[in-house]
Amino acid sequence: MRTYSSLTQIDIPTNLSLTQLLHTTTSPPLPPSHIIATDSLTHRSLTLKELRTNAGRIAAGLSSTYRPRDQSHWAVVVPNSCDYIEIVHAILWLGGVICPVNHAIVASEIGHALTVTRPEYIVAYGPTVPKIQEAITIAETELRNQGVQWRVPSIITIISHADSGKYKHIPDDLAAQKALPIPQYNDTRKRLATIHLSSGTTGKPKGVELTQYNFVSNVKQLEAHDSKQFHRGSRIVAFTPFAHIGNTTFPLFLGPYMGIWHHAMPQFELEAFAKLVDSVKPTIFQGVPSIVLTFANSDITHRYDFSKAEKIDCGGPPFKKEMLDRLMSKAPWRINQVYGMTEGAGYVAYQRVGDLQPDNVVGPLLPNIEIALRVNDGKDDAPVGGPGELWLKGPNITRGYAFNREANKSSFPVEGWYNTGDVCTISDKGVLAVVGRTKELIKYKGFQVSPAELEAYLNSHPHVVEGGVGPVFDESQLTELPTAYVVLKPHLLDEKSRKQALREVQTAVDGKVSGYKKLRGGVWEVQSLPKNPTGKILRKQLKDQRSGLTSLD
Ligand code: AMP
Repeated sequence: MRTYSSLTQIDIPTNLSLTQLLHTTTSPPLPPSHIIATDSLTHRSLTLKELRTNAGRIAAGLSSTYRPRDQSHWAVVVPNSCDYIEIVHAILWLGGVICPVNHAIVASEIGHALTVTRPEYIVAYGPTVPKIQEAITIAETELRNQGVQWRVPSIITIISHADSGKYKHIPDDLAAQKALPIPQYNDTRKRLATIHLSSGTTGKPKGVELTQYNFVSNVKQLEAHDSKQFHRGSRIVAFTPFAHIGNTTFPLFLGPYMGIWHHAMPQFELEAFAKLVDSVKPTIFQGVPSIVLTFANSDITHRYDFSKAEKIDCGGPPFKKEMLDRLMSKAPWRINQVYGMTEGAGYVAYQRVGDLQPDNVVGPLLPNIEIALRVNDGKDDAPVGGPGELWLKGPNITRGYAFNREANKSSFPVEGWYNTGDVCTISDKGVLAVVGRTKELIKYKGFQVSPAELEAYLNSHPHVVEGGVGPVFDESQLTELPTAYVVLKPHLLDEKSRKQALREVQTAVDGKVSGYKKLRGGVWEVQSLPKNPTGKILRKQLKDQRSGLTSLD
């Protein structure tokens, strides 16, 4: 079946650049002194006026120092901070493309991010520079093996830890005296804004190309959807990385446009978060069910003032009504489901405050989004209402993956349609529910984990014949856990040595990846991996095979 968002269609200009949007606000105009961001560590605040002035001057400074080509690629490896917001707007202002990279991931993962985005410049947070240098060597080798010429990027260090432990901000000499003129484009659909990382429906993380139009659209769609949900009095404590799409549109674009005040936390730590909540009194929480559960299970909500929260926006795994009731009985919050993705420049469906919340419902589609629900590997339409695999078309949907023809062929089966790999239903009132997934993605506490990436490590381990990775849902934490299944080499005869081997495999893989990718579901021994006739691992069936030993025993 095919249908449109039930919400009224809106006009989205194709000539409004993100820099012009930065100079626009909802009506009546916000005063230039309106604060839009504060650093949780340094307490430095950024007003609208400062952001506009600083971004323009940094754009001019970077332009004259580096003379970048139009649409040059800039990796930004910086923690959540006012500086992040300034530097991103400066790069967009000068016509560059942002490649956001989470500063906390390990060198090999940064290396992969550089390989798929091929930046010409890297804006880095001081302490991560050695890791980035290692990552550049990895990317250089990988791109050379692919026969790609890549000039080693210049590293621009914008924040460094001073001895006092405080941040030093963007160096003054990076900013020129006079701002660059505000860019104007005839067609922002042709102007790339970011290349975000996502593994999409299959394989390792890829670079999702998002245009200036995609982001302007997502801002306008959110505004039109329900303006009561966020407003100039809204305050958010932002702890998920700005490098993730779930925390891009709000702090960078919607925030300055609507006057939402973001308090930027470089990383999540429960007690520090609660203290900040107590002083900031946020009106909106944004998170995933496992984080909401952490609040609900601790006594922080009694020790600190969480009372101003109007609602919690929650995305991530499918959300059962029983799970919602359990959470809401522990803490007096309204939980709002949201459904989004990197390939949608942020948000695709958003529950309205006061809507009913049956199982898995994620709300109405944002305006101007068209969907198709497809079955039989996309060959046929699903019956009215679904379930079926969700295909999306709309102004916020990516045009494709950077430098990756293969992935573009499989994820965009028909011109203009993105196959999400999520299985959905839609009610006759246009309310979407996410009921399953055909894609391989694992989501650990909101972070993407690509099975292919972990399998590469399993398969290179000396004890392993071959391995597969899939999710196991952990009810006690409300999150999926990456879990491995391996066929062990036959020389490991007795149970003790096989168990030891499983532990070694787990330690070896966990040692190579960032925290959120660790094999928390354990490594299980299986006799064989379930495969289709062409030899592709049937990851959905992996967990049914686990009758053998596990590293968790
Ligand atoms: P990401 O690109 O990291 O934001 O991941 C996007 C994917 O997360 C979607 O395609 C879904 O598989 C999943 N997802 C996001 N929000 C929800 C939700 N509310 N319910 C179920 N799955 C979700």
